[in-house]
Amino acid sequence: MSPPDGSTARHDLVEAARRLDATGLNQNSSGNLSVRVGDHLLVTPSGIPADEMDPADQVLVDLDGRPVRDGQRAPTSEWRLHVGLARARPDIGAIVHTHSPEATAAAVVGRPVPAVHYVVARFGGTVLPCAPYATYGSDELAQHVVAALGPAGTACLMANHGAIAVAGGLNAAVALALDVEWLCGVHRRARGLGEPTVLTDAEIGRVADRLRSYGQP
Ligand SMILES: [Zn+2]
Repeated sequence: MSPPDGSTARHDLVEAARRLDATGLNQNSSGNLSVRVGDHLLVTPSGIPADEMDPADQVLVDLDGRPVRDGQRAPTSEWRLHVGLARARPDIGAIVHTHSPEATAAAVVGRPVPAVHYVVARFGGTVLPCAPYATYGSDELAQHVVAALGPAGTACLMANHGAIAVAGGLNAAVALALDVEWLCGVHRRARGLGEPTVLTDAEIGRVADRLRSYGQP
């Protein structure tokens, strides 16, 4: 059976990549995204800025990272990160990786961001974790990020690099990436004003329960 075309996902990826630029989370060709299409992953191409990429530039790879068609663009240099997450977590349908300024600054400090706001509960734990540093594009980095997210995490920092957000769909992953950036900005500003108060694990647990029923029925 031939691999799926993923034509809807191709448009969605371009639109999401442009949205990340418009919101200041990425610029030039930094950051990359992927969407699961059946047994494959559609990833953004290497080195093409969001405002110059087309749906046809998106690259379909299998879950070993092998391009499944001749004549495709080269996939993002961070394809191992995307493939590693897609293999480790069948629940993940979309992955957003950014070099957004606030999250990257926090990642340079290299520590988890504590629960200074209840939005942390959206990330599946009681902190925003930080994966250890490894060279970009390496298997080692993919393993660090898979471990930092664990079985249920939805976002983490990547030390001296950036951030990653995962969700069932692309819009939700982009929303999480925006939440990560916002939280890191709030934490930085709060520390400039004084010692931030950190919410307890029990409170974050209560918020997580509440978030499960948040929104429209
Ligand atoms: Zn990166």
